[in-house]
This record gives sequence, C-alpha cells and structure tokens, in this order.
Amino acid sequence: MTTFSYWEQQCLDSVDWLVIGAGLVGLQSARRLKETYPHQRVVVVDVHAMGGAASLRNAGFVCFGSAGEMLDEIHRTSESEALMLYDKRFQGIQRLMNRYGAERLGFEATGGMEVFAGDEAEDAERVLGSLGYLNELLKSIQGDGAFAACETSQLGMDVYAKGVMAAAEGGIQTHLLYRAVRMDAVAAGVEIYEGMRVMDWSEHVHGVHVRMENGQVIRSGRLLLCTNGFTKNLMPEVSVAPARGQVFVTEALGELPFKGIFHADKGYIYFRSLGDRVLIGGARNLDFQGEETMDMQVTSVFEDYLKRYVESVVLPGKKVRFEYGWSGIMGMDNNRNPIIGWHSDRVCLAVRMGGMGVALSSWVAEEVVRVVRGDEGI
Ligand SMILES: Cc1cc2nc3c(=O)[nH]c(=O)nc-3n(C[C@H](O)[C@H](O)[C@H](O)COP(=O)(O)OP(=O)(O)OC[C@H]3O[C@@H](n4cnc5c(N)ncnc54)[C@H](O)[C@@H]3O)c2cc1C
Repeated sequence: MTTFSYWEQQCLDSVDWLVIGAGLVGLQSARRLKETYPHQRVVVVDVHAMGGAASLRNAGFVCFGSAGEMLDEIHRTSESEALMLYDKRFQGIQRLMNRYGAERLGFEATGGMEVFAGDEAEDAERVLGSLGYLNELLKSIQGDGAFAACETSQLGMDVYAKGVMAAAEGGIQTHLLYRAVRMDAVAAGVEIYEGMRVMDWSEHVHGVHVRMENGQVIRSGRLLLCTNGFTKNLMPEVSVAPARGQVFVTEALGELPFKGIFHADKGYIYFRSLGDRVLIGGARNLDFQGEETMDMQVTSVFEDYLKRYVESVVLPGKKVRFEYGWSGIMGMDNNRNPIIGWHSDRVCLAVRMGGMGVALSSWVAEEVVRVVRGDEGI
C-alpha cells in the first residue's frame, strides 16, 4: 500500500471537518458546513472515484413515495412517521430545484404514475379507495390533490385499467444533478479527495485521528460520516443495513408509447423512459436477504426477472436486450427516516437515506448544519 508523501500529508493536515463519502449527502453537507464556517477547512474523502456512490447509480426518480408505498409505510410504521418522511423528501426536492433549476437537472415534469399488474386488481382498488384519505393527510405539505386516479389504457402496458398519478413527481438526469452538486461544493471551497478508504478513527482531546487504508492518519477537528449503505463497515452498531438495488437499461427501442416515471409492486419495481430506452430496477422483494449486501454485482436472477417484466408488462410482446446493468447500495432499515446527529463529541452521522435519497439529500444537508450548530435536533 502506498504511503502518503510529505506533500500529501500537508494537504490533509489541519482539517476542521473531515466528511467521509462524496455522495449527494456528503457533498451537500460539506458545502453547507463550509458556507456556515467559511474559515474552516472542509475536506471530503471517498474510497471510490465515481463508481461507488448510490448517488451516481440510481434511477433518477424525483419522487416522494407512491400511494401504495405510503399506505405500506403507514402500516409498517405509523401515520406520523410516514408523513414526516414524505415531508422531508418533498422539502428536499424543493430545495434542489430552487438551487439548481429544473432545466440544469434535466427534470421532466411528467408526473409519476403507480401502475398495478393485471392480477393486482384488488390491491389497485384498495389503493385507489384510499386516495381521499392520503390527500387529506398530505394537504398540509403539498396542498390539494397529491394523488389522483388516472386511466392507463393509453400506455400500451399490460396493467390494470386504473393507476395513480402523483403530479409533482418526474425524472431527472442523475449525472446532471451529481455534477451540479459537486461543482457547487468545490465552488464553495470544499476539497474532495478520492481513492481514500477510511478504516477507523480514535477521538482525542483536540480532534479525531482518522486512519486510512494505507495506515496513515488524517487529523481532523470533527468527523462527519455520510457513508449511507456502507456505514456498517465503520460503525456496526448503527441501524442501517446495506440494500442492493439492481438497475438495467434497454437498448434504444425507437419511440416508446409512454413517457415518465412509473412505480409498481408497492414501489419495489420502478421503471422510466430514458429517451427511447427503458430503465428498470428494483424487485428486492424477490430476495431481501440476498440483496442485503455491499457486493455491487448484477445477478442473472434479477436481470431475467426484470427483462421478463419489461417484455410482459411494460412493453407486452416486445423482445428487449439490456445494454446497461449495474447495482448500487442503499442504506435501509425498517424505519426509513434518516439518522442525523452526533454519535460522540466529535463524530456526527448523516446516514440511512432509504430508496429516495435524491429527494432527501438536500433536506439532510440542512439538518446536518442545524444539528452541528446545536439547534433543535431531529
Ligand atoms: C439502484 C438504486 C436506485 C435508486 N433510485 C433512486 C431514485 O430514483 N430516486 C431517489 O430519490 N433515490 C434513489 N436511490 C437512492 C439514492 O441514490 C441514495 O439514497 C442517495 O444517493 C444516497 O446518497 P448518500 O450520499 O447518502 O450515499 P452514497 O451516494 O452511497 O455515498 C456514500 C459514499 O461513501 C463512500 N464510502 C463509504 N464507506 C467509505 C469509507 N470507509 N471510506 C471512504 N469512503 C467511503 C462510498 O464510496 C460512497 O461514495 C437509489 C439507490 C440505488 C442504489
């Protein structure tokens, strides 16, 4: 393992804030820290150059939770927990849009539609029958009509005749968001160094000694972990499990009969148009246990299942070939609210973004600063 040169060590000395993780949460939190404490040095390190963060491996859905997911969330947690999570996602998106603008992020305001397979009629009617209740619940966050019943016949899909439209949702181009967030952090004075794996740290009276993979130490005043699905490697006691998500993109298919982002199977399957391709991902409910891994592979079981789904439900009767396939790691728990707070005097956490961290990330960065300044926590 290569040791630090004298110059590299100088580069990493006298850090005030060391942020681990150059994903959307790490970069936005680092920027907000730098803006809040302009005279302090804020440094972000990441083991990966690009290829590790969920932030560049996601599906680009700007979403808050479909009606079916919302009901599922209420059932698993409580009305107030589910509402709180929805609110954070909604606020997060508003902040992202206000800061960067829809055009810069490639945002397509198509709305997000929840569709149900032909044999899910009962489930569809249950969700459709709950829209009044959900809309009332979400009124204080989003105003009237967060969800509306819609026809699906024009989509050319093999789905139940009615779906649920969430008008405020849409798709972004993930790379455009990541680039905007990264450039923003650098412009604010944040330093980013990649190819650097943090192994562990020890806390001292005047700071934290952070040990890197090459055995060398970075001394920092404070440490902020934005390691999401990888957090257990550093802090096994924190309640956030890795959850792999597999994503595939078809070859170019010519004009598609639909445009937009779609949720199916209580949100476990998601697909969207990507120009004249289809992106599809998810289906973790096929094997929750097997997908609780940090191993970033794609597997033939998921590839075959999602390909069949495209060929039978999304574009019935059409044969497709996947041109891209990748996976990314989310940070999950039964409770999908993020963990933000001090772990000890000098170590702070902002992890567990669940399946909608794009929406959450900018809300989380704001909360990090609030917590650090000692304002009312979460
Ligand atoms: C397949 C998939 C699809 C998704 N689709 C969507 C979507 O459509 N919409 C949506 O809102 N959300 C989606 N998400 C979720 C969203 O992408 C994540 O919640 C969000 O990107 C999390 O950002 P983050 O910065 O917390 O974590 P990450 O982006 O994962 O960043 C964490 C970083 O920490 C680094 N790291 C970890 N450990 C160490 C260490 N020891 N030393 C140094 N560096 C370390 C990692 O390399 C990584 O870069 C999806 C996620 C996946 C995986």
